[in-house]
Amino acid sequence: MSAEPPRHPTPEEFRSAGYATIDWIVDYLAGVQDRSVSPAVAPGEVRAALPDTVPETGEPFADLLADVDRLIAPGITHWQHPGFYGYFPGNSSPPAVLGELLSAGLGVQGMLWSTSPACTELETHVMDLLVDLCGLPDRFRSDGPGGGVIQDSASSASLCAVLAARDRAGGAAVLPDLRVYTSSQAHSSIEKGVLVAGFGADQLRAIDVDDAYAMDPVALRAAVDADMAAGLIPCLVVATVGTTSSGAVDPLVPIAEVAGPAGAWLHVDAAWAGSAAVCPEHRGILGGLEHADSYVFNPHKWLLTNFDCSAFFVADRAPLLDSLSVVPEYLRNSASDSGEVVDYRDWQVPLGRRFRSLKLWFVLRTYGVEGLRAHIRHHVEAAGRFAERIGVNPRLDLAAPVSLSLVCFSHVDGDAAGEELLAALNATGEVLLTHTRLSDRYVLRLAIGGAQTTSTHVDRVADLVDRLV
Ligand SMILES: *Cc1c(COP(=O)(O)O)cnc(C)c1O
Repeated sequence: MSAEPPRHPTPEEFRSAGYATIDWIVDYLAGVQDRSVSPAVAPGEVRAALPDTVPETGEPFADLLADVDRLIAPGITHWQHPGFYGYFPGNSSPPAVLGELLSAGLGVQGMLWSTSPACTELETHVMDLLVDLCGLPDRFRSDGPGGGVIQDSASSASLCAVLAARDRAGGAAVLPDLRVYTSSQAHSSIEKGVLVAGFGADQLRAIDVDDAYAMDPVALRAAVDADMAAGLIPCLVVATVGTTSSGAVDPLVPIAEVAGPAGAWLHVDAAWAGSAAVCPEHRGILGGLEHADSYVFNPHKWLLTNFDCSAFFVADRAPLLDSLSVVPEYLRNSASDSGEVVDYRDWQVPLGRRFRSLKLWFVLRTYGVEGLRAHIRHHVEAAGRFAERIGVNPRLDLAAPVSLSLVCFSHVDGDAAGEELLAALNATGEVLLTHTRLSDRYVLRLAIGGAQTTSTHVDRVADLVDRLV
């Protein structure tokens, strides 16, 4: 008896299935605007239609793709639909999809430089290109003590910032005395990261915000001073540039003036808004970033690169590596021991890592600086026009200052009327918007960011709003 290998698809079968898959994706994206943005499925309906068992013998690829059409596509929320305005859109583009495909085809693990040198070096290079492209402070470049790394999500990146800040301040020995500060509008990932890092919920201070929902630096100073007077140690301040609810921008300069003298790490979360820095005219929101210890933004939100691709920068990599470097014997190698190479496993929580820089590199080269700026500017301008339409509608109020491509608005008749309007808009199938609460009011959010979303689509939403309100 001998155990034979399985029958793998032949190269020719792979090639033709691959062409069919690309055709499927291209046709899907070309026709997605004719679909309803949200699927009309009840809980459990998708699963109930799926084959119950793994087939005993393999099936032809054509059957798989047919089942995607028949069973999966009807249950998809179409994030690449031009009418998708929910949460923050997660955009994509042809070069990003192809970079992702190449990454899968290569199937490399980039945990160490030596496990695939080009995977590490392209990533370092692309992160330095982002510093130039976005006008970020030089301290985030890899040729000094700092540098950048691609993480799976802003949540993971912020967790790494929490860990580095915790340990720089003394780690486990002083953990009960450490305090973390962020605004009441910060993303939930900050609280989650703080809890995962072993802090109690009461060690996180939620700082008040001003009328525009940005962190109040005076309140921050009061909280930090009070804690220091009580013998506690401020170890981390997280500022948000572009909050998730309303796009508010925390003022980095006065926040840094509190964090720095207190010895606290300053982390800046610009997950969504950071992409706008490709345009020089939007870089003002990052004024003061040169005082930050770490910074994260998500090309997977608004820079034409599909999930996952989160750009995380540190001004000094030493504390990060001190927190996250654990070297077992089986991963020791001469390149790492020489200290001449970057081993990105030490810059993140997991060991293994995908070759994510390929897709970002493809996006940067395909669109060029001009294309990337046009993408951002088109959306920002469309948001401005939409906000003007809201402003002249007597039944609607702008609920917060327009932030880049995010418009928040509420119904003058109150929460129930706002909820009804959102439901009516989404019931058209043409658009998907989501909501938030600001100052205890129900607020609709129009977050513009899809690769296929143009000002014509946005004008159409304004028409729908006028008709349905
Ligand atoms: C979307 C968002 C996050 C979370 O991003 P992930 O990459 O999904 O973890 C964090 N912070 C802000 C401000 C966000 O808008």
